[in-house]
Amino acid sequence: MDIKEFKERAGDMLEWIGKYYTGIENYPVQAQVKPREIFNKLPGQAPEKPEDFKDIFKDFNEIIMSGMTHWQHPKFMGYFPANTSFPSLLGEMLMSAMGAQCMSWATSPAAAELEEAVLNWLKKMLGIPDEFHGVIQDTASTSTLASVLTAREVFSNYQINLRESIQKLRYRAYTSEQAHSSVEKAVKISGIGSVNLRKIAVNERFEMDAELLERRIRNDLVNNNKPLFTAATVGTTGTTSVDPLKDIAEICKKYRCWLHVDAAYAGSALVIPEMRKYIKGIEDADTFVVNPHKWMFTNFDCSAYFVKDKDALIKTLGMDPEYLKTRFDSEKINNYRDWGVPLGRRFRALKLWFVLRSFGVEGIRNKIKEHIRIAAIFKEKIENADDFELMAPVPFNCVCFRFNPGNVKEYDEINILNEKLLKNLNSTGKIFLSHTKLNNKFVIRLVSGQTNVEEKHVLEAWDLIREEADKLKK
Ligand SMILES: *Cc1c(COP(=O)(O)O)cnc(C)c1O
Repeated sequence: MDIKEFKERAGDMLEWIGKYYTGIENYPVQAQVKPREIFNKLPGQAPEKPEDFKDIFKDFNEIIMSGMTHWQHPKFMGYFPANTSFPSLLGEMLMSAMGAQCMSWATSPAAAELEEAVLNWLKKMLGIPDEFHGVIQDTASTSTLASVLTAREVFSNYQINLRESIQKLRYRAYTSEQAHSSVEKAVKISGIGSVNLRKIAVNERFEMDAELLERRIRNDLVNNNKPLFTAATVGTTGTTSVDPLKDIAEICKKYRCWLHVDAAYAGSALVIPEMRKYIKGIEDADTFVVNPHKWMFTNFDCSAYFVKDKDALIKTLGMDPEYLKTRFDSEKINNYRDWGVPLGRRFRALKLWFVLRSFGVEGIRNKIKEHIRIAAIFKEKIENADDFELMAPVPFNCVCFRFNPGNVKEYDEINILNEKLLKNLNSTGKIFLSHTKLNNKFVIRLVSGQTNVEEKHVLEAWDLIREEADKLKK
């Protein structure tokens, strides 16, 4: 493809993107295909001869599009959003066009320096103390893994990286029963071992019971185990509950345990000053993660990881082989390849910069406030319906509820009924919701966080839920 054809085809793509976004609500939110349906339509091997781009694009439209779930549909209300915006998309375009691999300062100085500047902006926007240093990772899972590994190395005086076997050090890690599975994954692959992760029980609001945490830590100390790592969550994935950070931070300080704060989703809400009550105690944390790729209009992937002790992170994950050395390496520059697991890095700061400047902090704050406001409207619908129950508090924009018409027995039957309701709702193609289980109860979650979601969408969601629930009553 030469530049002339590229420009023509790119024009077609822009046309396509424009139509996609204006007509997105006409697509079924969740792909309505069966397993293997797409695979079976694809040839078993790559073409030997070049193919015309028009044919490729035709297959994209006919085969691929039928198997896509539309995450940018305003009624994509399942999981957490992976939302995007046009400024972000434009940033991705330029980034892909340049195709720069931004592993070291010298491999693209602007990428390293923009990343530092933009993460400083983000830090100030969210009220994270100035002493933290930011770096962009692909995902929160990677950020949390970096945190566990750094804790492990700081506590072992970098001996596990070097030679020591970890098991005899009897490290223990702590998080709540409601924490994201990435915490357990990090504990598992760091060698600490998932059996050594204490899942602390939560209160009736699904927040970690800090007293229990302290008891578990003391108990471990009595038994010659070493408390190493605690992950507190601000906005759990099930219900967006917030662990009592201040209490947890004090306990961690008292027993010299490393503290990581996982605010992957809800961290974006800290752009609203009143929300900062949820991170009281943050100054005593070691690391913090928030994903602009979830709720800050920056398309996947872009996870902002903040650390207090950058030297410890670099000492844990840094490598300095001869072929990567440059004459610029010094205190003054950041070689972000040493701040995470992968060597190669995309220029993700560019799209975040485009987003922060295009929206402005105020624009982002207003959008997030609106998402929280419309979630409250939906919550009220649930509370006012006799045959629906609100299943968890709503600190942000995730509403957990279930249908309970009152004529069925507890647990199993209500669970089956709600599983059916969820399946029926998603099969309409008009909405996508997901679920979780709370105290063995099947709970449906509605999250109003897609970039373009409006009040009318949550009202339509409620009408649809009402309609499908009524059908189940008959
Ligand atoms: C989504 C989520 C994660 C994982 O995020 P990735 O970036 O996909 O790894 C971790 N923690 C919480 C609380 C989350 O909601």
